[in-house]
Amino acid sequence: MLTGKVALVTGASRGIGRQIALTLASYGADVIVNYNGSKEKADEVVAAIKEMGRNAEAVQCQVSDFEACGKMITDALAAYGHIDILVNNAGITRDNLVIKMTEDDFDQVVDVNLKGTFNTMKHMYRPFLKQKYGRIINLSSVTGVYGNAGQVNYAASKAGVIGMTKSMAKELATRNVTVNAVAPGYIDTDMTQAMSDMAKEAVLSQIPMKRAGKPEEIAETVAFLASDKASYITGQVIGVDGGM
Ligand code: NAD
Repeated sequence: MLTGKVALVTGASRGIGRQIALTLASYGADVIVNYNGSKEKADEVVAAIKEMGRNAEAVQCQVSDFEACGKMITDALAAYGHIDILVNNAGITRDNLVIKMTEDDFDQVVDVNLKGTFNTMKHMYRPFLKQKYGRIINLSSVTGVYGNAGQVNYAASKAGVIGMTKSMAKELATRNVTVNAVAPGYIDTDMTQAMSDMAKEAVLSQIPMKRAGKPEEIAETVAFLASDKASYITGQVIGVDGGM
């Protein structure tokens, strides 16, 4: 399904991003595994991909750093010749009610989740235009669609991702570049493990399917959007949330 394609997945050393990298590779893609902190974990993902017979490489880059994103993409293009699939998965939370939320909590979340997504899309804009081919998949969240108390910063960043996705889709539609967002609900990863038991129970009770989602369930949706099977889908937000 993705043989001959090269994918760049941000924040791919663990959680949903790790699974997206593995799933894209299982469908035949070579994968640039971006990570921020954990080289060891990123190397493990690379090793697992190489075992599947695909090419992979771990690249450190803080996605909120515009210049660093440019270098990561220029280097990858020099090494692989093309990048066909860009998955903006890197994300952070700094949850608190606004009364306790600091300016820094707000800025950090927006810098990584929103600006980070802009940074890679900006640097891939010309290459995608030249190639007349591209697939961008941005990770939003149910929080960006419905809002959530304690997550004003995160909701703003993830709603912003939806606005950017829809606008980029319109800019690139005639160039055979699709831009879509996936909005996960409550997925079992380190990010949600950090929530209190009470908060977890409150969320679970709101999920019609009454269970957390698995990273695989997000990754399969991303792989579909990255494939030619989704060639006429652009500017969409696909909820993968157990019915929320
Ligand atoms: P996670 O915390 O397990 O993984 C996030 C990854 O992003 C980590 O590998 C981290 O190192 C990386 N990262 C953080 N800041 C970075 C930076 N500045 N530069 C590069 N990489 C950076 O989280 P996850 O649950 O796997 O979430 C993945 C994505 O899905 C995020 O965008 C998150 O907001 C979104 N999401 C998750 C859920 C959920 O329930 N887990 C729900 C909705 C949306």
